[in-house]
Amino acid sequence: MSIDLGKVAKERQIKYFLISYVDLFGHLRSKLVPAQAINDMQKNGAGFAGFATWLDMTPAHPDLFAKPDPESLIQLPWKPEVGWLASDLWMDGKPVENSPRVLLRRKIEEARKKGWMMKSGVECEFFLISQDGKALGDGLDTADKPCYDQQALMRRYDLITEICDSMLSLGWQPYQNDHEDANGQFEMNWEYDEALKTADRHVFFKYMTRSLAEKHGLRATFMPKPFSNLTGNGCHAHVSLWDESGKKNLFSDPNGELGLSKLAYQFLGGIMNCADEMCAIFNPTVNSYKRINAPRTTSGATWAPNTITYTGNNRTHMVRIPDAGRFELRLMDGAANPYLLQAGILSAGLDGIANQRDPGERLDINMYTDGHTVKNGKKLPLNLLDAIRLMSQSKVIRAEFGDTFVDAYCRMKTEEWNSFTKHLTDWERHNTLDC
Ligand code: ADP
Ligand code: MG
Ligand code: MG
Ligand code: MG
Ligand code: MG
Repeated sequence: MSIDLGKVAKERQIKYFLISYVDLFGHLRSKLVPAQAINDMQKNGAGFAGFATWLDMTPAHPDLFAKPDPESLIQLPWKPEVGWLASDLWMDGKPVENSPRVLLRRKIEEARKKGWMMKSGVECEFFLISQDGKALGDGLDTADKPCYDQQALMRRYDLITEICDSMLSLGWQPYQNDHEDANGQFEMNWEYDEALKTADRHVFFKYMTRSLAEKHGLRATFMPKPFSNLTGNGCHAHVSLWDESGKKNLFSDPNGELGLSKLAYQFLGGIMNCADEMCAIFNPTVNSYKRINAPRTTSGATWAPNTITYTGNNRTHMVRIPDAGRFELRLMDGAANPYLLQAGILSAGLDGIANQRDPGERLDINMYTDGHTVKNGKKLPLNLLDAIRLMSQSKVIRAEFGDTFVDAYCRMKTEEWNSFTKHLTDWERHNTLDC
């Protein structure tokens, strides 16, 4: 029996629904719909002009419809009369291939047919800054090693606990909040779950954190590298593959190396094989490449990778195995599209299993000091253009995401790159005026 949103609105005193979707560049788009109109919208979707958002459409395309997934309903904890709904995009009676949530659902379904369910958790780091975006939000937050700083954390007690209380009320099982490694940077963690649920929560977490920060006179940013001397905003993902019922962790094997099964190493092999090709998804902005491949920050380490390596419980590599039955991907940043991030991991993993890919040797060195000793270590792309070219030529991503998606994504990202290179920088003038 499907959920009747009109009935739910009456029961829960919801006056308005936000029917929302995330476009290819991760922007959250919505229509605010009065509860009286929700039944029709639930059936037919809310109408949008696709060209007006980042979806590689033209003004001549027919109407785009966002059909809400009633399972995703979240009442805004700070305004419960509004119900937020994640949606899948439709056009001409068919799902839109370039819709990130549609793509993720397709990958999840492919995995389900093989008897697998991916579960994941994301660590969405963010900075609290001034509303004009120019300075940190806290002038007293200046320590050289500010990670876990109690004083700076408690100066933000009202905001952080409003977000955490919200997650508690929504049943996300949050379990810790801290000041992170950069001045002004924070992280809040909640329990992992099935990939679509984690992706919807990831979208909502960013919206909620921005909204509540604004309410407290601040601005929250997930930008990968907002300050060049400080540690950037990562979005690490922890991953495991379960049986279809979600009860048995298939990555777990007490007799396997570091407690991981053969299946886990094949999945990891898939990640290692195409991590560089996935960078346009995992690190999707011009700015992303200032976080990976970065020089040392004022805290002493970037905590971000530059080479495709994996290790045990050691945070200097792209992949860390912190515990039996899962691994952590440290490549992704705060700009990654929450649905494409999950779809990228799952696709790489499925490809790894299908081709029994070998992740290669585990490295137990300190990559920050001894990275140069790694022989044949594959480097991550140095900029967005290189990443787009790698993705465009990727056999794996073309097979997993489809040509329509890859071509659209690469075309739009290339336009973004061109818009960046067209702008004249201070650096160019400084270095070239006297040429
Ligand atoms: P760290 O900072 O040490 O990398 P965090 O505690 O910040 O780790 O985040 C860990 C994330 O991993 C959380 O979202 C947690 O729920 C998730 N996680 C734990 N176990 C698993 C698992 N088996 N599969 C997927 N995610 C997991
Ligand atoms: Mg109109
Ligand atoms: Mg963490
Ligand atoms: Mg962190
Ligand atoms: Mg982490």
